[in-house]
Amino acid sequence: MTEAHKETLGFQTEVKQILDLMIHSLYSNKEIFLRELISNSSDAADKLRFEALSDDALYEGDADLKIWLQFDKDARTITVRDNGIGMSREEVIDNIGTIAKSGTQEFFKSLTGDNAKDTQLIGQFGVGFYSSFIVADKVTLLTRRAGLEASHGVRWESAIEGEYSVETIERKQHGTEVILHLRPEEDEFLSDYRLHSIIKKYSDHITLPIVMPKVTTSEEKDETIIEEEVVNTAKALWTRSKTEITEDEYNEFYKHVAHDGQAPLARIHNKVEGSNEYTTLLFIPGKAPFDLWDRNNRRGVKLYVRRVFIMDDNEKLLPPYLRFIRGIIDSNDLPLNISREILQHNKQIDAIRSGAVKKVLGALENIAKKEPAQYATFWKEFGSVLKEGVVDDYSNKERIAKLLRFSTTYDDNPTPAISLSDYVERMKEGQEKIYFITAESFKAAQNSPHLEIFRKKGIEVLLLFDQIDEWLGTHLHEFDGKSLQSVTKGELNFGDLESEDEKKEAEKASDSLKSMLDRIKNALGEQVKEVRMTHRLTTSPACLVADEHAMDASLERLLKSAGQDIAGNQPIMEINPQHPLVEALSGETDEKRFKDWVFLLFDQALLSEGGQLNDPATFVKRMNEMFISMGNLSSPRIITLN
Ligand code: ADP
Ligand code: MG
Repeated sequence: MTEAHKETLGFQTEVKQILDLMIHSLYSNKEIFLRELISNSSDAADKLRFEALSDDALYEGDADLKIWLQFDKDARTITVRDNGIGMSREEVIDNIGTIAKSGTQEFFKSLTGDNAKDTQLIGQFGVGFYSSFIVADKVTLLTRRAGLEASHGVRWESAIEGEYSVETIERKQHGTEVILHLRPEEDEFLSDYRLHSIIKKYSDHITLPIVMPKVTTSEEKDETIIEEEVVNTAKALWTRSKTEITEDEYNEFYKHVAHDGQAPLARIHNKVEGSNEYTTLLFIPGKAPFDLWDRNNRRGVKLYVRRVFIMDDNEKLLPPYLRFIRGIIDSNDLPLNISREILQHNKQIDAIRSGAVKKVLGALENIAKKEPAQYATFWKEFGSVLKEGVVDDYSNKERIAKLLRFSTTYDDNPTPAISLSDYVERMKEGQEKIYFITAESFKAAQNSPHLEIFRKKGIEVLLLFDQIDEWLGTHLHEFDGKSLQSVTKGELNFGDLESEDEKKEAEKASDSLKSMLDRIKNALGEQVKEVRMTHRLTTSPACLVADEHAMDASLERLLKSAGQDIAGNQPIMEINPQHPLVEALSGETDEKRFKDWVFLLFDQALLSEGGQLNDPATFVKRMNEMFISMGNLSSPRIITLN
């Protein structure tokens, strides 16, 4: 029988690394191993309940789900057992021998090798099953998946050493049993008192009973009686009154539902009464999980119906732009046998979802107002995700827009901290629009030549440099009645901000320049749609702008880099006639030289906004020819820039 054969497999390199790190770094908090094992048993019970909704037989006649904990002083073992879903041989290998979670790679990349720093990191990473090895030098796991025959039991064992064994065994009881063979120095855990207090501290919120044997001796009959004693409160935390729940209890509950090692940033505990009754206990994590960008990740908000776990779900209970929220929603009115299909089109679920969204937005507004430092942390971790809401959630667009934070030219702070309301409050008398620029990086945005005129006039511009900002820029058309305007698009019209004199001056200049602009357009040919005089530049000679209705240049670059084949938009080149380079250009009579100048101007305009040259070699060649033709460096042809 090949199935039954015992095989010895090597741990994934990552697993070895994590084990090593964990054993050394979590040693000061070693009792958490129990929290992790109990948490897994509780998850396994949830999974069984969920699967049994459509197949009752999976309970195998035992729907009284529990977690048993016992220790053996002589064998020096601690055993945690559950009658949850259990695992097949394949699942054991997949779940226990490897770390398949997305984001693990990033986690390992972020490790520094500095033990103190890595300890912090590992604390944020849900440590899980492997924490057993903090106190045990050998771990045996016996399991059978509910619904499989007794002959499909599995025995997994590892004494670390980089490997583990798996063997198919006979196992009557479905569910999982984990036996920890304690390290010699860990005897302190072989104590009723110690184990009770660890459960009380970390696992009291677990809704299943956690049971330990209680041994009493009857004096009359001189015999020992072993009873089962439930150690935890075994009551759903969220059903208790808020005032009764301690901060620690909330935090431990959060760590369990979120698989997170550190406390949350904020929580929202709420009971809604009426025709559609439900309770929400939601948390904003303190740190983005490693799989935040994985839209398939189901660990978001869990749905319960009258205290019974129904399923993990992200999309039905909260929209994707709130996928960082963790916690539970417990409905009093949904049917227990609700399926995913029903969830898709259920009015009550829709109402719960929109209520939950409002609660989360309300909580964020509250933090933003009262705890700016906390809000800054939130924004750093989850701001990019929240921005998706402006595009995705039309009904809450305005509220979400108020929660956004940006860098702007007001203080040139690379950390986004300015709200659109702040911006609007500072708008100049006569300023009608909210101006923004998008670029690939803060520096590129901050130093863009397009901002010159805005800086000169003291008009604030939002500096957008997050990838998603491109979409934001095209979807957030207005805020507080003011339209948003890209400074790199269309003609600049400052309206009342420009004095009549300035306008006249500009027109005059533009007339006398007309012939040179035509010459430039001729030289560039199809490269540009139009060449015109600029209103935006004060210190740079030229810049490129997009047509009012065309795609923003940086959005175009983003799409191209994402492999999309889009027809390039012809940019409009704007020339600054005051610039000495341009002045020199107008006097150039040699057509070849004129053309070289023009191309140099065009290419540097492209470069300065973060674009890529079509033909960098020719650019360099032209530049060098220019230098050589200038010959002597003290020649009057050399241009001094202001
Ligand atoms: P996490 O709980 O965050 O997924 P763990 O390391 O704690 O990470 O557990 C890894 C996986 O092993 C779990 O996701 C689950 O699939 C499986 N597992 C662990 N313990 C049990 C158990 N008692 N019953 C069933 N499956 C389990
Ligand atoms: Mg776990």
